[in-house]
Amino acid sequence: MIVMGVESSCDETGVGIVRWHDDGTCELLADEVASSVEQHARFGGVVPEIASRAHLEAIVPAMRRALAAAGIARPDAIAVTIGPGLAGALLVGVAAAKAYAAAWDIPLYALNHLGGHVAVDTLEHGPMPPCVALLVSGGHTHLLHVTELAEPITELGSTVDDAAGEAFDKVARLLDLGFPGGPALDAAAAHGDPRSIAFPRGMTGPRDAPYDFSFSGVKTAVARYVEAAQREGRELPIPDIAASFQESVADVLTRKAIRAARDVGVDTLVLGGGATANSRIRSMAQERCATAGLTLRVPKPRLCTDNGVMIATLGAHVIAGGAKPSPLTVATDPGLPVSTTQLP
Ligand code: ATP
Ligand code: MG
Ligand code: FE
Repeated sequence: MIVMGVESSCDETGVGIVRWHDDGTCELLADEVASSVEQHARFGGVVPEIASRAHLEAIVPAMRRALAAAGIARPDAIAVTIGPGLAGALLVGVAAAKAYAAAWDIPLYALNHLGGHVAVDTLEHGPMPPCVALLVSGGHTHLLHVTELAEPITELGSTVDDAAGEAFDKVARLLDLGFPGGPALDAAAAHGDPRSIAFPRGMTGPRDAPYDFSFSGVKTAVARYVEAAQREGRELPIPDIAASFQESVADVLTRKAIRAARDVGVDTLVLGGGATANSRIRSMAQERCATAGLTLRVPKPRLCTDNGVMIATLGAHVIAGGAKPSPLTVATDPGLPVSTTQLP
């Protein structure tokens, strides 16, 4: 069985193709991604209208490139991100997937974007045991309990304000590092001392929700630090600020993820989402999982950011699990809860 996955929930137009094997593994046949990230740079954040327009221009060429790369005329099924995401952006991928499903007379599966971020790990690391997944990107920060990829996922917690990647982008902006700021901040932090400034750890008090996150406090603390330095005419120690901020975010994310894995009784932690490209989040997760006796699974960075392969992979699992196709009338759901794997 060959499954095509279509992704257009944010600023990446992704078309991926995988082949499902009966031993429960997936093989990557094509991975085409076109990003509009550069068009959003001068606005300092993703502009929905620009993203939608870019998807419209990119989607059909990406489909054609993916088919050529896989060396096939058509897949056996199409899976598409139905939500959560930007309404107008989702609409483009879903309309394209429906049109191709109708034209090729193949089944359509309307899937949850967040499940795709977890499922994609099976491409590199094989079938997935019950796990806790930490998803961190520009739009999401979630702690999830996954028992079976084709089954509904349980949300343990999420951010109450900014997403982790969004916090990286906002702090990078305070430090004049450009957009998207995550990678630039990571690079600056490499030359700094993570213990030089004691930035707060959000929502880690005894009465705080154990699996929820808050990053607005640490972001404000960085802003106050920058203001004070400017007022006093001191030069900004950018590497130290970046390293200390990054340490705070990585500390809270990994601490809560490991606690969640222990509490629900799984021995695997999976990371996903674009912000897991962060070097400190990765290294701290590695150190702490080793100490806690947990297996850590992290897809390669290219598969952590939004792509079509993750939706194709989730689609293959859902189809193999015996799900019925979604009707061609299925509507996008920008606020789709993570507990809904597929929209029937
Ligand atoms: P969505 O939230 O729908 O998954 P997105 O486009 O916001 O989509 P991704 O493309 O998965 O998210 O990831 C981009 C985010 O990851 C940005 O916020 C970016 O700053 C952040 N990021 C990327 N690399 C790093 C890094 N090395 N360190 C910290 N943050 C990073
Ligand atoms: Mg993106
Ligand atoms: Fe995503």
